[in-house]
Amino acid sequence: MSTQTNFDLVLFGATGDLAMRKLLPCLYQAHVAGLLHPQGRILGVSRSQLDAEGFLSKVETNSKIHVKQNFSDDQWASFIKRLHYLTVDVTNAADFDALAATVKARTETENVIVYLSTAPKFFAQACENLANVGLNAANVRVVLEKPLGTDLASSQQINTDVARYFKEEQIYRIDHYLGKESLQNLLALRFANVMFEPLWNNKYIKSVQLTIAEQLGVEERGEFYDITGALRDMIQNHLMQMLCMTAMEAPASLDADDVRDEKVKVIKSLKPLTVESVNENVVRGQYTAAAGMNGYLEELNVPAGSFTETYVAIKAEIENERWKGVPFYLRTGKRMAGKVAEIVLNFRDLGDHIFENSQAAPNRLVIELQPNESVRLYTQVKTPGAGFKVETAALGIDLGKAVAGRRQEAYERLLLDVINGKLGLFNRRDELEAAWEYVMPILENWADNTQAPHGYAAHSWGPEAARELLARDGNKWHEEQ
Ligand code: NAP
Repeated sequence: MSTQTNFDLVLFGATGDLAMRKLLPCLYQAHVAGLLHPQGRILGVSRSQLDAEGFLSKVETNSKIHVKQNFSDDQWASFIKRLHYLTVDVTNAADFDALAATVKARTETENVIVYLSTAPKFFAQACENLANVGLNAANVRVVLEKPLGTDLASSQQINTDVARYFKEEQIYRIDHYLGKESLQNLLALRFANVMFEPLWNNKYIKSVQLTIAEQLGVEERGEFYDITGALRDMIQNHLMQMLCMTAMEAPASLDADDVRDEKVKVIKSLKPLTVESVNENVVRGQYTAAAGMNGYLEELNVPAGSFTETYVAIKAEIENERWKGVPFYLRTGKRMAGKVAEIVLNFRDLGDHIFENSQAAPNRLVIELQPNESVRLYTQVKTPGAGFKVETAALGIDLGKAVAGRRQEAYERLLLDVINGKLGLFNRRDELEAAWEYVMPILENWADNTQAPHGYAAHSWGPEAARELLARDGNKWHEEQ
């Protein structure tokens, strides 16, 4: 007898890139690991006029190639038995009758998940049409893909529209960074070890850096990227979540709302930016041609003279007792020198000490989320030989090797949490809107700013202005330390 929760997963956007590349391969991994109820079913839905065979043939061609591990023909054959298909146009209310009939006829479970992997402009109409056929009852959960809006007002509008039909506890807003093991591990590191939490404050920490750097440029997605930019694509969501997990107080428990309450407090404690203070605290960058690579303005479908940022660095400050006076530097960029997502805590200088070299490097804790999942604590050790000098060496944990057990991809973990009704790794409305509120002065400043973004050479670590942002406080970016 299975202990898994039975489910019907209605996957809107089932023919799309995200479903084919991530969602279905992650569901396959959960299937192989025995984490899906034997009767759990996946109903693919999109506009395309396909029958079940036509859909399966698309899955064979477009999705199977993205299963990178644990593939076997037998497992695949048993996985695809879970897949069904129905044509539903979100904008056509009549199509939802067939959807409701199919779900009700097929339902052997009280657990229905509707995953909206479609453009956000469809969310309101999809929810209204689902509600019209009763697919918003208490047993239905709705999953909303990012981006949830392009600014505070549009995000509030989406949330208000969805809230007409679904209660907050039925709404699962995805930020796949929250599904990453290495980010969740931060809570274990901080709250399950005696030696970190006592030092995790402004008395011992001088600055914090949060980085998501990509080596790729915008590739063929110039048209999409140009209306989005790095601030909306990365800062407002992923980097804000990294900031929350790094800076939050210990939650009363790991219950969804206890954790989310603490995260909201961090965002609300951020010193608000003003349209004027943005000039001092935010760097907007754009990559330029170098080493045979195009600059952003030469990329396909990027409008001439675009000011869209491919790089952002922000100096943020948290105005609470724990963090007052500690700058948090957030940055993200495309066409950077390396591909990495990491959190770096720079400890304060020890000051005078008894060793021969006058300036031993301060301690540094580096939590790498990708490409490797690791924790490295840079410490001072004695240089071998005569005399008594010290030098830096790292104590390290390679999380992939140190801890046994299969590491799930973020989307697998999140899909399983939705199926099992666990909200903790999803954004609550107030959290999301507080994050938008924080970045709004940046968007407003840039909308009126006639100064072009700072250029940085493709495959460099970003503009000189970002180096100066830290130098003003006597700090350096991690790669320069
Ligand atoms: P996509 O490749 O353009 O696919 C869009 C999907 O929506 C297709 O299945 C399409 O069906 C369906 N669709 C469009 N109009 C519809 C309608 N009127 N009624 C029903 N279905 C309709 O998009 P995607 O890349 O998969 O992205 C989906 C969502 O996830 C977007 O909001 C995106 O921003 C977000 N997201 C994507 C990624 C990613 O890596 N791709 C990452 C994070 C977030 P037809 O093909 O039948 O028209």
